[in-house]
Amino acid sequence: LSGGGVVALSESQSEAQHPKIEDREPRKKKVVVLGTGWGATSFLKGLDASLYDVQVVSPRNYFAFTPLLPSVTCGTVEARSIVEPVRNIIKKTNGEIKFWEAECIKIDAADKKVLCRCNIENLVGSGEFSLDYDFLVVAVGAQVNTFNTPGVKENCHFLKDVEDAQKIRLSVIDCLEKAVLPSQSEEEQRSNLHFVVVGGGPTGVEFAAELHDYIQEDLIKLYPSVKDKVKITLIQSGDHILNMFDERISSFAEQKFTRDGIEVQTGCRVLSVNDQEITMKVKSTGSVCSVPHGLIVWSTGICTVPVIRDFMQEIGQAKRHVLATNEWLRVEGCENVYAIGDCSSINQRKIKDDIIDIFKAADKNNSGTLTIEEFQEVMDDIIVRYPQVEYYLKKKNILDLRVLWNDPQGNEREEIDIEGFKLALSLADSQVKSLPATAQVAAQQGAYLANCFNRIDHIEEHPEGPRRFTGSGHHNFRPFRYKHFGQFAPLGGEQAAAELPGDWVSIGHSTQWLWYSVYASKQVSWRTRYLVVSDWTRRFIFGRDSSR
Ligand code: FAD
Ligand code: MG
Ligand code: MG
Ligand code: MG
Ligand code: MG
Repeated sequence: LSGGGVVALSESQSEAQHPKIEDREPRKKKVVVLGTGWGATSFLKGLDASLYDVQVVSPRNYFAFTPLLPSVTCGTVEARSIVEPVRNIIKKTNGEIKFWEAECIKIDAADKKVLCRCNIENLVGSGEFSLDYDFLVVAVGAQVNTFNTPGVKENCHFLKDVEDAQKIRLSVIDCLEKAVLPSQSEEEQRSNLHFVVVGGGPTGVEFAAELHDYIQEDLIKLYPSVKDKVKITLIQSGDHILNMFDERISSFAEQKFTRDGIEVQTGCRVLSVNDQEITMKVKSTGSVCSVPHGLIVWSTGICTVPVIRDFMQEIGQAKRHVLATNEWLRVEGCENVYAIGDCSSINQRKIKDDIIDIFKAADKNNSGTLTIEEFQEVMDDIIVRYPQVEYYLKKKNILDLRVLWNDPQGNEREEIDIEGFKLALSLADSQVKSLPATAQVAAQQGAYLANCFNRIDHIEEHPEGPRRFTGSGHHNFRPFRYKHFGQFAPLGGEQAAAELPGDWVSIGHSTQWLWYSVYASKQVSWRTRYLVVSDWTRRFIFGRDSSR
């Protein structure tokens, strides 16, 4: 198809008098975007839509501000306040962007098309269609990982999407209404009011904290007869909750939860779940116990969605856990397909695999050795291309590159050969890190990719980015580099913890205010910002709503 269909009509006859239509106005390349989450909307906002023919496919016609989902579970913030219709987001751009409310069910990389299906109820006619693309941007996110634990899908709530949060809100109220019925024994009351959270990561912890506040600040006043029977348990398989955060934050969170009466069970693995009980194993003792529950929220991390699994199979990535891209976010082993956000992970190249190429490129006079000037020049490029070097220098507190240049005894040398060069850089590969599955990463990747697409000629020349190290040539097309701006963990009771760049940790009430202001400012539109802030204000004045 590429090049246009006119070619087949009349190659020879009229070409001289009438140049082909395509010659006068070349067909715009087709970009298909899968998803309307953090990655996709950030890409769409940054993209110059006049350069391409852009189509967006997602089963949800809105963007959801996921960091506020835990607040939606307890009505602190209303669901409608954290979503923005995708049609609002895309109409602002100069070109035209089309949106189709459908789910991609197959990516056909060989034929460069995607098969989609609309799931809207009572649709007349077929909801299936296929779209051709020149470039595909995959940003479908991930799904909750149940680790195939029996009964989890059927009996647990997830907290991944707006619908999930709304369901949890209803279920919490249902549990209380059930518990106060005259027919309930005390034991049944306690079972109904046992709220279990599985997973001690940021989402599980924040939900537990929200639920605790909701119950203590609003619900026990309304259900006084059962106020002593409510219990929240947080189950974590690792030794500490929030273990991706600084130690100070995770121990503060554990202590606060214990004071609040939230039972934190670390070192515990859930074996199975049914509608009555949750069964778990204490790792240290090996003992197995079952406890009755009223509601379980399962939040133990993410895994790849089926459509991406199939795609990985097709392109030879079947053995991997996550779809791999190169540092320019292009899917490995696949032309013209890019992937961003939670559905993919960057396969960072190791320096040791490229060391010979790097050395050759740096050694301009082919002498077999590098001078200090050559070394310093190539290091500038290496730091751009291999982020592990920067992490390594930071970790070892190396401010001056001469430390790498000197020999192992610390003496300054005249020249360095390939072996010495290898030695100087070999340790940096230990600092290769995979990026966290966060909105921050997805949004930065979307913005980066939009920037690349806006330089259209560049994308066409180097759709894969420079494959090998070519000296300074790649400077005008830098690989993606993540910039961490810190992370919050709201802990309830108007307290929050934050880890900010430079090992800066802040915990307490003032951090909660910082949280309010950051999250208000991060809203995608003035409309949602107004809604969120007024929800917070309403909550401060009137408390949360408790109707079903
Ligand atoms: P998503 O935002 O999940 O978007 C995926 C999109 O793809 C959705 O629009 C979906 O409808 C669509 N889609 C799914 N399947 C298909 C298909 N087959 N075809 C087409 N479209 C499809 N991160 C932070 O940085 N800070 C936080 O405080 C934070 N808090 C969080 C709290 C919660 C409760 C959750 C669940 C996540 C939180 N995250 C946070 C993580 C953050 O939400 C994700 O990392 C981010 O959403 C990833 O963006 P994405 O674009 O890859 O995927
Ligand atoms: Mg997305
Ligand atoms: Mg999202
Ligand atoms: Mg990722
Ligand atoms: Mg030389």
